[in-house]
Amino acid sequence: MSTARPRLVLATHNRHKVAELRAILAPTTPGLDPDAIVGAADVGAPEPHEDGVTFAENALIKARALAAFTGLPAVADDSGLCVDVLGGAPGIFSARWSGRHGDDDANLALLLAQLADVQPAHRGAQFTCAAALVTPDGFEHVETGVLRGILATAPRGAAGFGYDPVLVPDLQPARAAGQVLTCAELTPDEKNAISHRGRAFRALAPVIVARLT
Ligand code: IMP
Repeated sequence: MSTARPRLVLATHNRHKVAELRAILAPTTPGLDPDAIVGAADVGAPEPHEDGVTFAENALIKARALAAFTGLPAVADDSGLCVDVLGGAPGIFSARWSGRHGDDDANLALLLAQLADVQPAHRGAQFTCAAALVTPDGFEHVETGVLRGILATAPRGAAGFGYDPVLVPDLQPARAAGQVLTCAELTPDEKNAISHRGRAFRALAPVIVARLT
């Protein structure tokens, strides 16, 4: 059990996401003890109602609520899949595209059915993530990261979550050697290196360091 004093709180109740964000932030925030980065569940914070209509608005809603609740600098992210031919949908509705919040299999099946007749040249898409820092004195900053790719016609791979089994990133790891891997066929490190979340949080890291020192 760590005795580090919390200095930064992350607006997620998911322990895996806290670990993922610590891993992304640790190398870029050398003065910050990873144990001083805690999740919303560690401080008993309630989840706010996310009624924004953009990723940035929803990230700010979550970070503002957490900064107000804890009196600590708070970081939140909001993300989703944006499909070119669908005009950017599912977007902020990614987690509930099929009508059932968090049903990854149903969301994926519906998306593939909607795109069944769409040819590879028109299957461009991207994961987008907005990462927000809000401090109790009212400072606010948002960074956005994207991961571009092409949607496969059938799911492949067992890693990751959500729409990972259908997004084939444009940037493939060297080991792919001509194959085309989906995000669900990447290791966590390979995905973090190119992901929308990795990019948004690495862009936010210097701002976090500047506000904490
Ligand atoms: P959240 O804002 O991180 O909770 O993400 C909302 C939804 O977007 C998730 O439920 C997924 O459907 C989708 N999504 C966001 N990021 C990813 C990702 O890295 N891989 C696959 N799906 C994602």
